[in-house]
Amino acid sequence: MTVDELHRARQEYDALVARGLKLDLTRGKPSPRQLDLANGMLEQPGEHVSAAGVDLRNYGGLEGLPELRAIFADALQVPVDQLLAAGNSSLELMHDAIVFALLGVVPGAERRWADSEITFLCPVPGYDRHFAVCERFGIKMAPVPMTPDGPDMDVVERLVAADPQIKGIWCVPKYSNPDGTVYSDETVHRLATMETAAPDFRIFWDNAYAVHHLTDTETAIADLLALAAEHGHPDRVFVFGSSSKITFAGSGVAFFGSSPANIAWWLSHTSKRSIGPDKLNQLRHVRFLRDADGLRTHMRKLADLIRPKFEVVDKILTAELGGTGLASWTSPAGGYFITLRVPPGCARAVVAKARGAGIALTPAGASHPYGDDPDDRTIRIAPTYPEPPELEAAISGLATCVRLVGAEKQAA
Ligand code: PLP
Repeated sequence: MTVDELHRARQEYDALVARGLKLDLTRGKPSPRQLDLANGMLEQPGEHVSAAGVDLRNYGGLEGLPELRAIFADALQVPVDQLLAAGNSSLELMHDAIVFALLGVVPGAERRWADSEITFLCPVPGYDRHFAVCERFGIKMAPVPMTPDGPDMDVVERLVAADPQIKGIWCVPKYSNPDGTVYSDETVHRLATMETAAPDFRIFWDNAYAVHHLTDTETAIADLLALAAEHGHPDRVFVFGSSSKITFAGSGVAFFGSSPANIAWWLSHTSKRSIGPDKLNQLRHVRFLRDADGLRTHMRKLADLIRPKFEVVDKILTAELGGTGLASWTSPAGGYFITLRVPPGCARAVVAKARGAGIALTPAGASHPYGDDPDDRTIRIAPTYPEPPELEAAISGLATCVRLVGAEKQAA
């Protein structure tokens, strides 16, 4: 790095700041154009009767509408009668699963999770809101490195075999947040079959991006719920999913799937909490999506809007940072995020510089428990919300920040 290069990087950054941008790459939200694709849900006449002739305006139906569960059963790899359709947020269900397990006794447990100090394994980088739920309830978090095949299973197996206080692991098995990783068949198999010291160990299988392919290849993963049951651990798996990034992020439908014993346990808790979900919203989803093929067709339309944005990010990062040795980034085949890796010790500085230039990024470290990325090098890019012109400006600005921080570090 020459003095000239540092000088040039500073000048570029000053010019960026002078543009007075106001751009946001923080949260993985669907764009208005994506939401518009589901507007058919708002245009349905006042239907209110289910296939079985039930008046859905009334109380009841805690399990959710069977015809909607049937549409999502294959995608989430859960038999229809073991899949529940609930409210609008799967995060809410994950939160509740933790609370129910803390305060109730999960099948296979001798005591409530609240009765002792417990730990969750957290593959990193991961989803900040998973970690926030643990933090909220005082659950200790143990990071586990991600590999291109999913969490490092040597580490997972060693930890869960040794410590009965390790009660769970967070997993986003397809197009993970934020790396876009797809768990290999071997990883899923090892998760299903591993020996755990805790008899009440649970895999929180957050399949949020089960159908969110960006290419024509519909990536499939092994069926964890079936494999676990086959290998003598029927109650090990809690499956979560939702239509938040399929229909409306604020008015979708969330799903919970598990073994018959876990479903009975779950309903024993939720029946105290509610007399039933919003079944009219569930019916709107059924009318709009129709069947599994309708879901597939809708996802292709969404992919046509999202794919160009991922391509823009890749194109600009390649043009501006390729070959500099200052960054590497993921090119996922689905999901909502791109992970940008900068040299160790640089991520916070890059995010701060970007903020200074009016480009909001998810805080560096958010992808790690307690907000602590020990290498300080992971930055999550969420490209779905901005339209391509703003996205181009934001990514190009981000590249300017990476170059400046890189130059300053080398000069130091
Ligand atoms: N799980 C993952 C991995 C996510 O990335 C997100 C949103 O970004 C959610 C869950 C939130 O899902 P929901 O809208 O169903 O609460």
